[in-house]
Amino acid sequence: MNQPLPTPCNTGSTIRQRGQHEVFCGLTSIIWLHRKIPDAFFLVVGSRTCAHLIQSAAGVMIFSEPRFATAIMDERDLAGMADMHDELDEVVEKLLERRPEIRMLVLVGSCPSEVIKFDLGRAAERLNARYASRPRVLCYSGSGIETTFTQGEDNFLAALVRGLPGDIRSGRPAQLVVAGSLADVVEDQMARLLADLGIEDVVFLPGRSSDVLAPIGPQTRYVLAQPYLGATAAALESAGARRIDGIFPLGEEGTTAWLQAIATTFGVSASRFEAVTAAPRRRAREATAHYRPWIEGKRIFLFPDSQMEPSLARYLNRELDAEIIEVGSPYLHREHVAGELAMLPPGVSISEGQDVEVQIDRCRAARPDLIVCGMGLANPFEAQGLVTKWSIEFAFTPIQGYEQAGDLAELFARPLMRQGLLSGAASPSRRVAS
Ligand code: SF4
Repeated sequence: MNQPLPTPCNTGSTIRQRGQHEVFCGLTSIIWLHRKIPDAFFLVVGSRTCAHLIQSAAGVMIFSEPRFATAIMDERDLAGMADMHDELDEVVEKLLERRPEIRMLVLVGSCPSEVIKFDLGRAAERLNARYASRPRVLCYSGSGIETTFTQGEDNFLAALVRGLPGDIRSGRPAQLVVAGSLADVVEDQMARLLADLGIEDVVFLPGRSSDVLAPIGPQTRYVLAQPYLGATAAALESAGARRIDGIFPLGEEGTTAWLQAIATTFGVSASRFEAVTAAPRRRAREATAHYRPWIEGKRIFLFPDSQMEPSLARYLNRELDAEIIEVGSPYLHREHVAGELAMLPPGVSISEGQDVEVQIDRCRAARPDLIVCGMGLANPFEAQGLVTKWSIEFAFTPIQGYEQAGDLAELFARPLMRQGLLSGAASPSRRVAS
């Protein structure tokens, strides 16, 4: 059933949906998390279905020893006829014998382990005691009952923060924690920009090694690099850190606003900010302009998948002149995305949650030029002659920051270019030039 809710911004009312949803579960986030922290190992405690999802979704790992696996629960486990804790201990023992280089072992809960109420927290505690935290054992839920794919990362980062040892928390705290998994190339660029702004003691969460533990204290400020980190933000705040409010670093405008919020917090002068950001801002604007002719004036419908949708819609509308029909998000953290919602054009439809059939009907009726949606919906839409973009690509492609602004624009432009070629339409650059 859909219920309109008032929104504190200039958009139309929010459609709140509580029907069937079609989105990848939180296990999917292992695809980018295992690359980000090479000395970590993700052990899913789940069914054969979970194993298939992870193996096929992360199949690109065929050239190296994978850093993820599934401890498969069978019928005896599900019927309560076997002691899951003993079985898990055995699997972990064999794994650590074979892979002694693992520094952090992450137990990932799934739908089946949730259904039988298998206590992964207790298992992690027991394994930490048994191996004296070498490797450190953490756990989080990636179950599709309660998480979408980006919420898997959120739960993992929250577990990382909660698992910080006490002596680290009471050591010299970081000035700034940048929370949210970023591709290494993006992290390097952000680190350089922050250093050029004179901001020291910056910690990225997650770090590239399980040894990088973010020291957090009352002086620590944190900024979210991703909009889907509600649980992580709560964990950081309960450790004493305070959030820097802002929009997210997508596109030239988003990146500048994000950096400006940090710079203002740390008292960076306007002249220094201008000196550090002027050149990359110009590059970002130029790279984006290259793709604008393909996207300007196009009507775009975003289905709820990653929680990045409000930021993507703001970027599409303000930097690429697209018309936004509907912005879906599996969940709207109203405090964290208030700035994004306020920048959307008046009257844009916002939807939270999903009732997939009803939303498909709305989308078909609107006949958008481009649909941003999950892989399961994309093929049927394409078969009906509609143009789509897989939303999961925005989660594992480096798109944040100035140097990626052109790549972000290209992700939206590519399906429209392909359609232009197939239909033999005149190139948009000629249309714009005429
Ligand atoms: S966690 Fe749930 S939704 Fe995800 S693959 Fe396993 S059974 Fe399927």
